[in-house]
Amino acid sequence: MDDTLPTVSLPSGITLPALGFGTWNMGEDGAKAKDEIAAIGKALDLGMTVIDTAEMYGNGGAEKITGAALQGRRDEAFLVSKVLPWNASLKGTIQACEDSLKRLGTDHLDLYLLHWRGDHPLEETVAAFERLRREGKIREWGVSNFDVEDMEELFSVEHGHNCAANQVLYNLTRRGIEFDLLPWCQQRNIAVMAYSPIEQGRLLNNADLIHMAKAYQATPAQVALAFLLEREGVLPIPKSANVHRVEENRAAVELDLTDEDLQRLDTLFAPPQRKQPLEML
Ligand code: NDP
Repeated sequence: MDDTLPTVSLPSGITLPALGFGTWNMGEDGAKAKDEIAAIGKALDLGMTVIDTAEMYGNGGAEKITGAALQGRRDEAFLVSKVLPWNASLKGTIQACEDSLKRLGTDHLDLYLLHWRGDHPLEETVAAFERLRREGKIREWGVSNFDVEDMEELFSVEHGHNCAANQVLYNLTRRGIEFDLLPWCQQRNIAVMAYSPIEQGRLLNNADLIHMAKAYQATPAQVALAFLLEREGVLPIPKSANVHRVEENRAAVELDLTDEDLQRLDTLFAPPQRKQPLEML
């Protein structure tokens, strides 16, 4: 059984483990802090070192929890955070980044994303990202919830082609990106960070998925993650505040889905036949 994590390469050549970790809903309830910190630590222990957070999550609370978990271990993580669209002006992005760095207790982010498109011109956000990069406050930058048209517009902006990643909703029940956005990103080596990879838990009650998982002595979450891990350039970021579920999710890489199973999944969760507007949560 191979438990080596597959990898995803960024356009700059940086290589990342293809299974990361999400922190949405963390940092909202002090009573849960201990478990959340332990879960992030477990993700690092298991090599799921791409840790995704955002200024939005818990109003900065998730960044604080992440910072606490990374104390003394910052170098092990590839740390990702996001700027809210209404902060994404030239000055606002720089300020938001500095605020995130303070909450995270670090001097740099490995990847900084625009959380979704807003009213500030992309030129301004990109200029801010490039300045932050020159100053060593971020290593890479990218976007989130950008459809093909948004990506094309981004690439028309000065330095827009420096985008390293696009974080989008992608799971068995949300396969629209396979029609156009996924190949568009794959052709350019832009990492596709798959958010809500188990549909926030809703996928786990699917009877067919449960049935298929049983055949592997696996869980539906593992099948859902294994499906994503099959795809080149895709980096799912499941969230769990439970160390056992973090271990369970990590073990998804050991599942080697057969062609027959992948065909079965295509029957159960049909791939797109035409353009579908990008969905978001
Ligand atoms: P996920 O699909 O990762 O599901 C998380 C939920 O599933 C939690 O309730 C978790 O509960 C539960 N869970 C996790 N693993 C298991 C398991 N093995 N068995 C049973 N339940 C499980 O949803 P998210 O929306 O959190 O997406 C992941 C990450 O993506 C976010 O945390 C965030 O970092 C990012 N994201 C980005 C967005 C964007 O706009 N850019 C939007 C949404 C998410 P528990 O913690 O109790 O284990």
